[in-house]
Amino acid sequence: MTYLLPKKLQQLEPYKPLSGDFPVRLDANESFLSLPDEIRQEIGRAVAAIDFHRYPDPYAAVLCKKFGAFYEIDPALVVAGNGSDELLSLLGTCFADAGDRLLVARPDFSMYEIYGQMGGMEVIARQKDSALQMDADSLIAAALEEQVKMLIFSNPCNPTGQLMAKSDVLKIVEALDCLVVVDEAYMDFAAGSVLQEVENYDNLIVLKTFSKAFGMAAARLGFAVTNRALVKALQAAKSPYNVNTLSQVAGCVLLDHPEFLRECIQSIKESRDDLYQAIKALKKEKADLYMVYPTSANFVYLQVADASAVFEAVSAKGIAIRLMKDNHLRIAAGSPKENRRVWQALSECLH
Ligand SMILES: *Cc1c(COP(=O)(O)O)cnc(C)c1O
Repeated sequence: MTYLLPKKLQQLEPYKPLSGDFPVRLDANESFLSLPDEIRQEIGRAVAAIDFHRYPDPYAAVLCKKFGAFYEIDPALVVAGNGSDELLSLLGTCFADAGDRLLVARPDFSMYEIYGQMGGMEVIARQKDSALQMDADSLIAAALEEQVKMLIFSNPCNPTGQLMAKSDVLKIVEALDCLVVVDEAYMDFAAGSVLQEVENYDNLIVLKTFSKAFGMAAARLGFAVTNRALVKALQAAKSPYNVNTLSQVAGCVLLDHPEFLRECIQSIKESRDDLYQAIKALKKEKADLYMVYPTSANFVYLQVADASAVFEAVSAKGIAIRLMKDNHLRIAAGSPKENRRVWQALSECLH
């Protein structure tokens, strides 16, 4: 009669994506490119041929092999997940003991802290400087001082769009004994991946996702790339059939079209550059547009005088963007038409 939730769940709110009818969706950093008919039909044929009465391959071996071929890494170093979120959850809950410390920087992807808390970890958060850059030396110092068990950050960073140089990332991995998780959800849009480095370290895990550059958010496909010992630990800790067969075959079809994927990445980068330049040009005329941060991802991060007011005004025009802390907004790159619409909306509500 008096069941009480555990303390860690009492205050936790469910993740709430924006609801409502938005003809333009630029709030979730998805790809604006939808799959071409040819590839859809190919996926349809592959799905129709599935042995639906059988469990999925627990190791998604064919998918990991094709993933390895695309990124030029040994498939034995790859673990597939139900989105990289599942892998982050697994890391937060299984790769530390209760009471261990997790170091994150702020702002960064907010789920890192939640998964760590669910695992009973104590979260240590360090604020970034005013340019929102992450400084390798101060992260190393914080990790050593607080004796953390795990450090997680995204690179390029969501929501800031900032990129940490590969040499700085490796400096962190080398300086620390703790597990370093580098979430490269947006690295397809930038240069500086440490994917090829995982075998050189015993404490580096790189995360990738099909939800951003590859335009497959619906299928929930994420990947951890790491050394063999950590691959084994991840495989042991995960639920056996974590990636369903429909998603496995859809991911395989997509990876059979590497040229298409490279073209998608190129179009998204062009759209991102256009949106960034357009918003940056607005800054010259609008005094209440304080900051437009340079971006290495597929979105633009900006600071305005009153972000809630801008968010409401843009939403009222049927355009979904993301309202962030401290009067920041995050806007994903869309099609040329969508970029023009959001630019127009911004220019009308800024002064
Ligand atoms: C979108 C995003 C993810 C989630 O990816 P899924 O594979 O869709 O779960 C993870 N990390 C960062 C930084 C993201 O922006």
